[in-house]
Amino acid sequence: MCAAVERATIDERLLLIRAHPELAGRAAIRGELTPESTREQQGAGLAACTPEEFARLQRLNTAYTQKFGFPFVIAVKGLNRLAVITALEHRLENALEHERAVALREIGRIAGFRLADLVDEPPGSRIMAMAEHLARFSDRPDGLSCAYLTPAHRATAALIRDWMLGAGLDVEIDAVGNVIGRWHGAAGNAATLLTGSHYDTVVDAGKFDGRLGILVPISVVARLSRAGAQLPYTLAIVAFAEEEGVRFKSTFLGSRALAGRFDSAMLDSVDADGLTMREAMVAAGLDPGAIPAAALDPRTLLGFVEVHIEQGPVLLNASAPLGVATSIAGSVRCLAAVTGLAGHAGTVPMPVRRDAAAAAAELVLAVEKRCSGTPGLVGTVGLLQVPGGAMNVIPGRCELSVDIRADNDAARDAALADLLAESERIASRRTVEIQWRRVLDVRCVPCAPRMQQRWAESIRRVTGVIEPPRLPSGAGHDAMVMAQITEMGMLFVRCGNGGISHHPSETISAADADLAARAFEDFLLNFPVSP
Ligand SMILES: [Zn+2]
Repeated sequence: MCAAVERATIDERLLLIRAHPELAGRAAIRGELTPESTREQQGAGLAACTPEEFARLQRLNTAYTQKFGFPFVIAVKGLNRLAVITALEHRLENALEHERAVALREIGRIAGFRLADLVDEPPGSRIMAMAEHLARFSDRPDGLSCAYLTPAHRATAALIRDWMLGAGLDVEIDAVGNVIGRWHGAAGNAATLLTGSHYDTVVDAGKFDGRLGILVPISVVARLSRAGAQLPYTLAIVAFAEEEGVRFKSTFLGSRALAGRFDSAMLDSVDADGLTMREAMVAAGLDPGAIPAAALDPRTLLGFVEVHIEQGPVLLNASAPLGVATSIAGSVRCLAAVTGLAGHAGTVPMPVRRDAAAAAAELVLAVEKRCSGTPGLVGTVGLLQVPGGAMNVIPGRCELSVDIRADNDAARDAALADLLAESERIASRRTVEIQWRRVLDVRCVPCAPRMQQRWAESIRRVTGVIEPPRLPSGAGHDAMVMAQITEMGMLFVRCGNGGISHHPSETISAADADLAARAFEDFLLNFPVSP
């Protein structure tokens, strides 16, 4: 419909706008509106205007129609009547051409809300279409890049907000830009189960990392609320504004704010253009001073669950669509520097050489050997270089990185200790010096056993698989921050294309998205209010 409007002439577009009734106007008073319009206008409280408000609305309506020659159109979903009247007042200031575009955009939003009410699409294909739609907002013309608080990022947030409103949620955007939609429980129960994931992306990203964990819950809630279902607790879906750390090099901004772990010193960090995070927030209409107040009260929380693509090949290789995360791996990262003795590649005999690169090569193989064969333990040398090296010089120095991750800290620490011992043996045998520097040390975050059990039962009921795969997450997630304030669990969804992620080839199937939605729905319906 929006594409047809874009192709239409200006006169045709005006006909479309003029076909809309005046807000709280004569048709509303005489009861001549369509049932949809009546419901929407009543939902914003427009039918309950005080005489003063009504007179003001009429006055503004008249001024608006006189200025633009068409009625004021706004999607009232999620607005109260004061917000509607304020919007009318502001838009009266617009120039004609701009206001016409705003009116058409609002008509597109109204159509979206009404379609969502009418169409009962299978969740899987709906989720795939939503992920495609969000991927159109990008910082770069080619591919998907969506960094914190860029125009593409704000547009993504606005659309997620609309979808949450369409699903019947109460929506707020908090001080760091998290979009939070609440589905209030029966009997006003405020105890809240949280779910969600991040909507920012890495550069040249896939369409599902993070976003899947927002779209699955939205589509499930839309379906449940359309069917008239209610949960005995409040469900809050959080679209976290920032997780990847692309723009300001600090990660998990969204979940840190909700967990009360936001370090205000980060507000002074600058992006590549020298803009501080504080300035970027203010420019986006956010209030950095309100971040501490965005923290959730842990006493009101029943837990946090995150649906996420696996970002690896384990489920794919096991032919399993869904899996249960057991923990989010801890990681230790070290930089090692090997110092030997540089020399002429032609004159120094082999037995007396002190070749730093050859020692480093032994170390690389030692990492691979030590980290193979223990389930849940992985080790990687991702950086390896001979600074100032030349083809005809024996390397006098070699630098490398070592990244070790495991699903439990004991396994990780034992692997590192063994590698340090091996490093000493290599150094003494080759008469080189090897210095290690630890640059990152993150403890492993286990998923709550009860949450794992509930996910396993939901997967079993939905897929018929008796023992769904359980696997650690090698990547970090918002869930590891939220685990600091509440019980945490994660559902993994199979990736296609060999399990590739953080890449445009990242993909999942509509059938798997459908299963994820059904498992999530089952999880919600069986989640106990009291532990
Ligand atoms: Zn992610």
